[in-house]
Amino acid sequence: MPLFPQRFIEDLKHHADIVVVIQDYVSLKKTGATYKGLCPFHGEKTPSFHVNRDKGFFHCFGCGVGGDVFKFLELHEKSGFQDVVKQLAQRFGMTLPELEQNDEQRASAAEREGLLKVHEAATAWFRQQLASPAGSRIRQHIAARGVSDATGEALGLGFAPPGRNALAQALISQGYSQALLLRAGLLVQRDDGGVVDRFRNRLMIPISRDTGSVVAFGGRALDADQQPKYLNSPETPIYSKSRTLYGLNLSKAAIRERGFVVLVEGYFDLAQVYQAGVHAVVASCGTALTPAQAQQLRRFTAKVVLSFDPDAAGQGATAKSCEMLVAEGFEVNVAILPAGEDPDTYVRKHGPQAYGDRLKTSRPYLEFLLDRAAAGHNLNSDDGRVKFLSEMLPIAGRIPDVTVRDRFADRLAHKARVTDEVVRAEIRRAAAQRQTTLTARELPNFGQVTKAEKGLIWLLLHQPQSALAALDALDDGDLDGLPARSVLDLARQLNENSGFSPSIFLERLSSVDSQLVTAIASEREAHVTDADGCARIIKRLRCEREHTAIQREIDRLQELGAAQHGARIDALWARKKDLLQRIEGLI
Ligand SMILES: [Zn+2]
Repeated sequence: MPLFPQRFIEDLKHHADIVVVIQDYVSLKKTGATYKGLCPFHGEKTPSFHVNRDKGFFHCFGCGVGGDVFKFLELHEKSGFQDVVKQLAQRFGMTLPELEQNDEQRASAAEREGLLKVHEAATAWFRQQLASPAGSRIRQHIAARGVSDATGEALGLGFAPPGRNALAQALISQGYSQALLLRAGLLVQRDDGGVVDRFRNRLMIPISRDTGSVVAFGGRALDADQQPKYLNSPETPIYSKSRTLYGLNLSKAAIRERGFVVLVEGYFDLAQVYQAGVHAVVASCGTALTPAQAQQLRRFTAKVVLSFDPDAAGQGATAKSCEMLVAEGFEVNVAILPAGEDPDTYVRKHGPQAYGDRLKTSRPYLEFLLDRAAAGHNLNSDDGRVKFLSEMLPIAGRIPDVTVRDRFADRLAHKARVTDEVVRAEIRRAAAQRQTTLTARELPNFGQVTKAEKGLIWLLLHQPQSALAALDALDDGDLDGLPARSVLDLARQLNENSGFSPSIFLERLSSVDSQLVTAIASEREAHVTDADGCARIIKRLRCEREHTAIQREIDRLQELGAAQHGARIDALWARKKDLLQRIEGLI
């Protein structure tokens, strides 16, 4: 990524008032020193999204996102830093300076460009093969699966012929290098050094970004004995499986218009549903939806309808997708199909009208789970009610919106015939537990960040001078193993090199670290305000870590035989004594 000069970025940030910018998307109310509103990154009905104008950052206490004005636009618009800078410069009437781009950046931009072009060329070539006489068997195969010519056309279906290097020959003759084709995953290098087409004798399904650029392929086997049934492009600099949703390029306008999206599993489910006139459809392609894919969807809608086989509902990829979507604040409905049917077979058997009716009568996922769990337990017995509740409470605890969660609690209480206060309290407990597990996953060690580290981080934003002086007194060894090490390291680095300012600091933090920092900085007061005191605690913790390690080593040696290791043990005792004294001095 080319770089804008730091001075320009600082200038721009100075002009681009974070409250003004965020107010374009979120209505904010001033409450005390900060502004509050409904978080645009997760569904909520009571505001937990805070903007601090003076310090130039935002933070959501509901879902944990946070950062500066650039980060907000990057997340909200799903665009890169560069585009965000351009957008803000335009909005605030600043002229863009020349980009500083190094060789490596130029090379990777050129590579991505090359990869996109070669995918475009390959798509065109696969389509030609499908239209050629050699493709007639495949055209029949597609027709037999009930996919019309128009749908095939819309999906850009193609055919990779059986030859070992038909595609390679065609594209190399068009001027593409073998190296680029390998990089794109269109060719594979065999162990013996030979190079062959990855996709041979397959029905080719182009996978696109939502902008329409083809970035990968799925290849379906055409013969019964051909393995694997589906072969996919590998991950490349332009393709990440976990961030791509199949069909979004075709459906995004319809999703916006209809206000919801139908989520199906496979390519052919999508083809049938799309052909049935339900254009607001995407496919997860067999694996559980990832949060990154959910974020993609959220740009267009927060309502998802899943249609699947009732046996699949409570388990596997579908259940995981549902739970993740609920946890991400989506409104999730399920349209149950008869046992053994998927959208592909259902639409073909019963027609578009019947499928449309299934969608219309879809039910909220949570209700569906509730009824299913209730049916699985004897709610007339205490034992059954306890089992029912312990199955449902963790699910309830993952609902991010308090209002939705409370409503769900009422329904749970009603079914289990207990008072709703009991259920609500239990759910709050489950939700609190979930917060710790979630943060543990997303923010490494967030829960373990010590008070002293938190104190220093808070001070770095609110009283940087004292925090920097205290950090200066620490050395690398003191920071080793600290959960917030990367954050404190960055502050030290900036202080040494280019000069520290809270705004440069916020901008340079990784997304994960920025969540941690804005969470701490949003607290009205630091838990620990004495920066030197924090530094002392950090030094003491280091001594304690070393002390524990030495003790462990002494124990080990004594077990091996104090006689042989006497000298070593004595030396360790001396160091241990020394450390204890230092620890005393640091209290
Ligand atoms: Zn949020």
